[in-house]
Parts: sequence; structure tokens; C-alpha cells
Amino acid sequence: MPEPDAAVLERRAEIVAAMRAIVPGEGVIDHVDSLRPYECDALTAYRQIPLVVVLPDTVEQVAAVLRWCHANHVKVVPRGAGTSLSGGALPLADCVLLAMARFNRILDIDYADRVAVVQPGVTNLGITRAVEDAGFYYAPDPSSQIACTIGGNVAENSGGVHCLKYGLTTNNVLGVELVTIEGDIVRLGGRTLEPAGLDLLGVIVGSEGLLGVVTEVTVRILPRPETARALLIGFATVEGAGQCVADVIAAGIIPAGMEMMDKPAVHAAEAFVQVGYPLDVDALLIVELDGPATECSHLLEEVESIARANGAVSVRASVDEQERVAFWAGRKAAFPAAGRISPDYLCMDGTIPRRRLPDVLTRMRAFSAQYDLGVINVFHAGDGNLHPLILYDANEPGQLERAEAFGADILRLCVEVGGVLTGEHGVGVEKRDLMPAMFSETDLAYQERLKSAFDPGLLLNAGKMFPLLHRCAELGRMHVHGGAVPFPDLPRF
Ligand SMILES: Cc1cc2nc3c(=O)[nH]c(=O)nc-3n(C[C@H](O)[C@H](O)[C@H](O)COP(=O)(O)OP(=O)(O)OC[C@H]3O[C@@H](n4cnc5c(N)ncnc54)[C@H](O)[C@@H]3O)c2cc1C
Repeated sequence: MPEPDAAVLERRAEIVAAMRAIVPGEGVIDHVDSLRPYECDALTAYRQIPLVVVLPDTVEQVAAVLRWCHANHVKVVPRGAGTSLSGGALPLADCVLLAMARFNRILDIDYADRVAVVQPGVTNLGITRAVEDAGFYYAPDPSSQIACTIGGNVAENSGGVHCLKYGLTTNNVLGVELVTIEGDIVRLGGRTLEPAGLDLLGVIVGSEGLLGVVTEVTVRILPRPETARALLIGFATVEGAGQCVADVIAAGIIPAGMEMMDKPAVHAAEAFVQVGYPLDVDALLIVELDGPATECSHLLEEVESIARANGAVSVRASVDEQERVAFWAGRKAAFPAAGRISPDYLCMDGTIPRRRLPDVLTRMRAFSAQYDLGVINVFHAGDGNLHPLILYDANEPGQLERAEAFGADILRLCVEVGGVLTGEHGVGVEKRDLMPAMFSETDLAYQERLKSAFDPGLLLNAGKMFPLLHRCAELGRMHVHGGAVPFPDLPRF
């Protein structure tokens, strides 16, 4: 992470006082014991206590905090629920951590226009809960949906098992209110699908808290499909499962969700939730079809026959809603299930062309042997989005470093086979230094110019997404600390 600015650290008392003047009462936290819960997000391998935590109540307070920080050159890290898996909400020692937890109200629900207007601290599942009695739901469904906030979802462009058919966050957000680091309050998009002007909303979704702080979100809500049924399909080989996924899509069928788990993931999940997953298969597919009942039954039969043609060894269709939910329970609990079999794990997130799945899995097994660390795999198979969970023990010296190197090799492999560095978890700290594996100098320069247009002082979520050395080289300057040039082995520019 960037070196903390000693001058800012020395001004701590002044900064805390300024924050208290803006957010009175209990909205400013500065005692070290109370700061501790904010020291990391779900990428718990990296921790840093922030300078101070501020919990604003109103948009005006958010604007005043940002304006003050901009004028006084203090960095700001926005935070939702802290479930990011890429270190996106990791604090800096010299930052104001702007926690949006108090922005937790649903402002408006309009069933005629099929939109909900919510504050960013509302949980993803909270939106569905608010509209389900009327037969509606919010489609993107990250496995963390019980905890993660819509503000975090917008920042990470989050996905979930139902995004294959219904799109990612970016396809379900119609508008946001954004506060810039200069304290301006800007509205982007609105209640309709096609706003006029440049698509700045598209720029903000997925911007990982680097361009502004989201204070209001307008999302699409959808009527619940008449029926939803799921198939649990076991394969003797990963190749068979991979080919089945490709053939289902090629047949013109877009399932509501199509997920794959490898054998270790199936065993870990079944041991945790006992939903009756077959344990004698090398790969398990969960395929959900939704829509009118007759269409659903017809598609179910089509998918089953494609699966059998690809060597499926077991096929079970859910008979009722309870069983459908049970089929998903194991998949949705795959991460905590990994937590039961290993003291620590790193959850990677890369995307590959679907047809490359078998050879990517083979290479991953070779990495696993090379680094002497276990790996279990869950995939959003329809999207080609991989989530290898690398198992390690942080108490064993050297294992975290081996896990990080293993993860970096997986992500480089994703790019090498024609995929991308991230599917839905964002770049954050985790993939920051791998960005040059995917983007040219020119690509990165244009992204950084956009960042500078929104945040000229580079204060918002500094140290995330853009490789640090790259930035120094581009600006033609290098931070030399204690006389030691960083990265002495790299060529100088
Ligand atoms: C068990 C588990 C399962 C998960 N499953 C999925 C999954 O299926 N799909 C998926 O996509 N992700 C998944 N995630 C990752 C994570 O839940 C998402 O990235 C989520 O969107 C983060 O939301 P959050 O509220 O926790 O944000 P945080 O972790 O607090 O922050 C994430 C990023 O958003 C920024 N941010 C937060 N709020 C704002 C705001 N109001 N304005 C501007 N920037 C903001 C932060 O600066 C940070 O960069 C999972 C995580 C866990 C722990």
C-alpha cells in the first residue's frame, strides 16, 4: 500500500475534530478498540486500522466530509458492509474511512415503473425483502446478499448465480446520486433505461469507490417468474460438465443460473449443509430454468438430454420450491464450507472463455501441486467466471505468500487463455499489480486520466486498482523512503 503521509498522521487530532464538527454525536470513531472492526474487509489477509471512521447520516454530511478532505489533502476510503473479497474497502493508515452503514433506508418503490430507490447501505437481499410481498425481486444475487450493500454492489459491479440471464449490477441499476471528492452532488441516469448524454452511470458502476461516493441508487425490480426449477447433474469428468455448459448455451437456452462445482467443492459443501449432493462425481452442475410452467418443463427436458449426451451419470430435478432452494444451499454455502476444512482461504475471481474450462482446471491442478496447496473450485459456469478457493494456513510461515503466488498464476492463466482478471469481485488491492498483465500502458493511462478527472488529488480509495509503480513511472517521479529506492531490481524509466 502507499506509504502513509507522516504529515497527515501528525494532524490526526485536527482531522478528528473537523470530522466531529461535520458529523456530531456518535458518528465519528477514533478509539483504537472501536476502529479494529474496520481494519479489513473479507480479504482478511490484509489489515490496516484507519486514522478515523466517519458514519455520516445525510448527503450534506457526506459532501462536507469529502469537501474537507479534498481541501486538506486527506485520503478517503468508502465502505459498505466490508464483504469485498479483493481488499476494495481495506483502509489506509492515513485515511478517513467513510462507512455508509447509516444510509439504510428504502426511499421509494414504484411497481408501475418497476423501480426501487434505495440508500446505498441497504443490503442486496433487503431490496428483495421489501418488494417480495408484491411478487417482485431484485435479480443480481451475490452469495453475500444477506450482508453486502447495494452501494458496494454498484462499486464492484457485483454478480450472482442469476446474472447469466438477468445481468450484473450494471444491467439492473438505472441511476445513482454521487458525491464527488470536491463535495459536488451529481445525479447520473434516472428511472429509465436510456438516459441522454455520456453514459457516466456506466463508468460509475464498477469504479470501486475511486470516482465518488454513491448516496442513492435506483434499481430495476422484476416480477418473480411463475416457476423456477433446478437440475442437479453429476458428471464423471469435468470435461463432460464443461461441454454440457457449452452445448446448453449453443442450443439457445439461457438458464436462470448454471453453476459448476468440482469434486472437492461438492464434498466440502455436502459435509457442511447435507443437501444430498452426489459424492461420486468429478463435477456437479446446478442448472435453473425459470418462466411459465410449461416452458420450464420443456427446457428442463432439453437440458437433461444435453447432459446425458455429454455423459451425465446422475440427474435430479427439483420437485418443489423447498428442494430447489436446497439444491442452491450447498453452492451458496461453498465459501463458508471451505472455511470449515481450511484455517484460511483466498478466493480468486477470474473469467475465461467457457470452452477453456477443462484445460484451465488441469493447469490449476498442476499449480496446486507446484505450490503444495489445496484448491477447490466453484464457477459461474454459464459466464465462465471462476472462483478457485486456495486453501492455506496463515499461521504456517510462507503459506500466505505461496497462496498469493498461486492466485496470481491462476489470474495470469485466465488472461492467457483469452479471459479477464476479474468477473465480479473487482480489482482492489488483490489484483492491482496484475493489471499490466491485461492492459497496455495506454489502456491504463486512459483509465487513470478518467480517475484524475473525477478525483484530481487521487484521494479516493488510493492504492486500489492502479499499479503503484506504474503510476510513479507515468508521473515521472518515485517515492524514495529512507534512502531506499523501491523495487531496485526493476528497470528504471
Ligand atoms: C461469502 C462471500 C460471498 C460472496 N459472493 C459474491 C458473489 O456471489 N458475487 C459477487 O459479485 N460478490 C460476492 N462477494 C463479494 C462482495 O460481497 C461484493 O463485492 C459486494 O458487492 C461488496 O459489498 P459491500 O457492501 O460489502 O462493500 P465493501 O466491501 O464495503 O466495499 C466494496 C467496494 O465498494 C466501495 N464502496 C462501498 N460503498 C460505496 C459507496 N456508497 N460509494 C462508493 N463506493 C463504495 C468500497 O470502497 C470498496 O471499493 C462475496 C463475499 C463474501 C464474503
